[in-house]
Formats: sequence, C-alpha cells, structure tokens
Amino acid sequence: MSDLAWSDAQLKEVAATYGTPCYVYRQDLLEQFADAWINALGDRGTVCYAVKANSNLAVLQILARRGCGFDIVSEGELHRVIAAGGSPKKIVFSGVGKSFDAIRFALEQQIKCFNVESLRELDHINSIAESMGVIAPVSLRVNPNVDAKTHPYISTGLKENKFGIAADQVIDAYQHASSLTSLSVIGIDCHIGSQITEAEPFMDALEKVLAWVEELESLGITLQHIDLGGGLGVRYDNETPPQPAEIIARVLARLANRTEQLIFEPGRSITANAGVLLSQVLLTKHNGEHNFAIIDAAMNDLARPSLYQSWQRIQVIDPPEDATPLHWDIVGPICETGDFIAKQRPLCLAEQSLLVIHSAGAYGFSMASNYNSRRRAAEIILSDRCMHLARARESYTSLYRDEYLFEG
Ligand SMILES: *Cc1c(COP(=O)(O)O)cnc(C)c1O
Repeated sequence: MSDLAWSDAQLKEVAATYGTPCYVYRQDLLEQFADAWINALGDRGTVCYAVKANSNLAVLQILARRGCGFDIVSEGELHRVIAAGGSPKKIVFSGVGKSFDAIRFALEQQIKCFNVESLRELDHINSIAESMGVIAPVSLRVNPNVDAKTHPYISTGLKENKFGIAADQVIDAYQHASSLTSLSVIGIDCHIGSQITEAEPFMDALEKVLAWVEELESLGITLQHIDLGGGLGVRYDNETPPQPAEIIARVLARLANRTEQLIFEPGRSITANAGVLLSQVLLTKHNGEHNFAIIDAAMNDLARPSLYQSWQRIQVIDPPEDATPLHWDIVGPICETGDFIAKQRPLCLAEQSLLVIHSAGAYGFSMASNYNSRRRAAEIILSDRCMHLARARESYTSLYRDEYLFEG
C-alpha cells in the first residue's frame, strides 16, 4: 500500500515544468484504488470503471492493464476505451439516451452488455441488432427506489429520478425483453447515486434486486449477472466511507447460495483521491470583509464547487511565514459569481503561492469546459520513474480549430 501523501517537491517540479493550472494523477494510487475493488471481487465478477469520472486515455490505459473493464455512457467514451487498449468484452454501456449510432458501434465492437433504461430502448436495440444480424446482450437498469430519508446522498435511485425502470414495470420489461428475438437478457443492474458513505444503501438495493431476480427465475428468466453500479464515496473532508472490500464481503455473503457474476461500476472511488489540481494565486483582493485569492484555475477547470457546492481540501505549498492566516474565498478569473473553488478557508497564502486542490481526480478534468475561451488544463501522471504528460494544455488555436469564418 503506497503513501497517500503527495510530495510537495514533486508537485513543485510539475508546476515548474508544465505550468498551472494542471491536473496531476498518481499511477500508484490509481492502481491501489482499482486493486481494492479487483482483489475483493476476485473471480466472482468484473470491475467496470465508470469512464465519466476521469476519461484521460493514459488513466484508462493504467486501469485496463490492471484488469478493469469499463462502464461507458456515450459513443465518445467507447472510442476512448478502445484507444486506451480496453477490452470491449468488459464494457457495459449505461445511460438514459443512447444514440442509434452509438448502439450500432457498440454492437460492432461486441461489448459485454447494454444497461437498458426503458422499454423503448429495448425496442431500439432489438431492431438495430436485428438489422445487423446479431444478438444484443442486455441488462435492465431497475430503479430500486431506495429511501432517501435515511440516505440523503442518494439521488439517482429514487422513483422521481429519470434513471432506470420503475419498480412496478420491471417484470413486464423483462418479459418484453425476453420476447424480442435479437436480444439476449443476461443481467440486472442499478446505480443508486454517488458519494454514498455507508454500506446500507448498497445492501438495501441488493435486497430489492434479489427479490426481482427470484421472481424472474420463477417466470423462467434466469440471469447471469447482477450489477450494483457505482457510487461508493470517498473522503473529501472527514467522511469515513466503507472500503470496497467491506461492501463486497457483505454482498458476497448475501449471495452465498447464488451463482450470478457480480459487476460494480466504481468511478469516484478509483480516481478522486488519485488526483489533485495545481493552481497558482494570481493576486489577492480585499472587498470589505471578504478576502479573495484569485487563482489561475476556475470553474471551467473544476466545476464541482460551483455545481454542487462541494468541498475540497486546499493546501498551500511553502506558505509565506510572515503572513497571518485569513479566511479566504478562493475564486477563479471567470465572469460569474458562481466561479469559486472554495469559500472562507483559513489559510496562509500570498500572490504566487502554489495551491494543491485535493481529491480532484474524479469529475475534475472530465467536466472541464472552454468557457471564457480558457484552454483546458494539462494533465500529468506521476509514476515511480517519471512525470508523464498525459494531456498537453490546449493551444489557443485549438480553441477555434473547428470553426469557420463566414465567407461573406
Ligand atoms: C456515474 C455513474 C457511475 C459511477 O459513479 P461514481 O459515483 O463515480 O462511482 C456508475 N454507474 C453509472 C450508471 C453512472 O451513471
């Protein structure tokens, strides 16, 4: 098990070499967090890393070599996984709205399974498969309607969410799927939310899923796998989420008398704490009571604080010794009041200070945009041997490379 602490010297070297803002990921941590799932699951199933959390090619490559499969939600993600050397045999395709082109391409690539979210989508996949003369492997994403009151962080597994097939339609949907001749019904899946910091919601969802599995069995529909989705939380501040091994041990104990393979789709729990965002303070500014540190990273680089009011730990490298700590609002240069990374943080900092924004490896770069015509940041992977430039900072010309002046 490697040390979770980051080396200031290494981060300073990255900043000096590649500039800021930049994302830095550690190979050892990516492997450690992936292994936690892979080793606990053993030969009982497949870990399908959720690509949307961090879809950098070199990150996907490291995870593929470690044995991960992938959970994709778009044709673009399928292209990325293939380019990174991931095996289509270990790809599950989730999402409420898959385009026909995406379905066709996934069938050509012979992916492991389509996680289907509606009756209409069953028909679509069936007719595309039929036209291609192939059989599409499908699982139905069920909505277990896990109680949000006890588990407030769960947001996708409630009946009012757009995700999954509603509880009262599940059996009908399976019977419909079984009647379609170009589908092979092989699994059941759910994904109840994200940043879940207890084991109970997973166990609650498993109970609901097992009840359906047994009912389906009595109707002659037998499944090969149960996919419990992703959603395991990580420590951003002082959360204490269970380890993958604990969840998997409990699930396996519950499934002791069953033979289905298991799939998990972890995203955040593999990449979040394997990455940081490095940024430099451009200037400081004091408006009345407020102390602002304006940094060179912004909401276009890291959207989570503005989108979800999320909290991420911020560390100052070599803080000025003579400064008194103040409560700082850490903000970006974008023309939006919502452009902040953190608020009211007691820190010692000054202009040019290098900041480490922790837990930024998941839903960081993958949600980045070019808003305000800002170039997306560089991504660097640290290994034992080297600093690897996994994605160069965008160039200014790349910002408008695909645009055409009006030939008036
Ligand atoms: C986002 C997502 C995941 C991954 O969620 P994490 O919270 O990052 O683990 C897994 N499965 C599906 C269907 C998703 O939409």
